[in-house]
Amino acid sequence: MLEDLRWLGIRWQEGPDVGGTFAPYRQSQRREFYRQAWRKLGDCGAIYPCTCSRRDVLLAASAPNEGENDEPLYSGRCREKIAEARNYAEPAGVNWRFRVQDGETIRFCDEHFGLTVPSYYHCHLVRDPDGVRLAKRHDALSLRALRQQDCTPDGALALCGFPSCI
Ligand SMILES: [Zn+2]
Repeated sequence: MLEDLRWLGIRWQEGPDVGGTFAPYRQSQRREFYRQAWRKLGDCGAIYPCTCSRRDVLLAASAPNEGENDEPLYSGRCREKIAEARNYAEPAGVNWRFRVQDGETIRFCDEHFGLTVPSYYHCHLVRDPDGVRLAKRHDALSLRALRQQDCTPDGALALCGFPSCI
């Protein structure tokens, strides 16, 4: 992917191939960060382990409910297990759910853990000439496939409707 993006002309100031202040950049190397966040959520009673099977959840969600908009509702079968969160040494092997007090409406600003919020840049979804978003499941061409077909970076950008000067 990095090679394909570089071929396209995209450059980055930090990342797994060039290093940087916030390394490591590979998700698999950041497990300790995720584990600390999980532990913090468990310690403050924000999450609980749910041992329901997928079938249990689907059956409960498909049962008639009296929700305002008939959205499927989780039964909350495991919600009293909040104290059990501390019994787990690792988050793997069980589903974790956020604990919501009865009758409470949850609103939050996505400020994960009091960390400095980064500046985000979002670009539009890349779509084909018919307006369908490019996705592997739709057998869309990858940058690699375009390269193998001797497409130029400008040609690839034009296919996606981008100007050649990104
Ligand atoms: Zn459960």
